[in-house]
Amino acid sequence: MFYPEPIERLIDNLTRLPGIGRKTATRLAFFLLSAREGYITDLSHSLIDIKEKIRLCSVCFNITDIDPCAICRDERRDKASICVVEESSHMMVIESSNPGQFRYHILHGIINPLEGIGPDDIRINELRERILSEGITEVIVATNPNIEGNTTAHYIAEILKPYDVRITRIASGIPVGGDIVYIDPLTIKSSLENRKKL
Ligand SMILES: [Zn+2]
Repeated sequence: MFYPEPIERLIDNLTRLPGIGRKTATRLAFFLLSAREGYITDLSHSLIDIKEKIRLCSVCFNITDIDPCAICRDERRDKASICVVEESSHMMVIESSNPGQFRYHILHGIINPLEGIGPDDIRINELRERILSEGITEVIVATNPNIEGNTTAHYIAEILKPYDVRITRIASGIPVGGDIVYIDPLTIKSSLENRKKL
């Protein structure tokens, strides 16, 4: 038994979202079906807006609606150091524990040979270019403390060796195999303060 085609199509589209099975998708579809029109219009506009208005900052590759992003435009931040993270969500976590302190570089991925992700698939070359053009003297690598995060940190240390730049790695407090997104702000803060030279 199938629902009318427009509802089936909506259910199909919703099941493509992460963590949404057919049962939840069906529940959501019927919620939307009975929702007031203003909400539906607003929801559809916000979906279109994230595609039309959100892009990557041309400097740090953070997601933004203005380029350069608000963080790159912030003159009060330390210009000499840069904090390297895997994803924009990790940057948000670090930013909430150390507001207004760092500038960032978002890699958009992590080196993972098993999944065929190499250095050229993430924004490492762009990082090297920034070191040269922006006069950066310290690179703080804040990738997760797991195999991929460590591999990426060591690769970054290796390719930046020829340059006069100190490479540090966030340290104590974050458990091996842990994920930055789930660590409390105080631990993140202390792991940044206690960063170690790579
Ligand atoms: Zn930026």
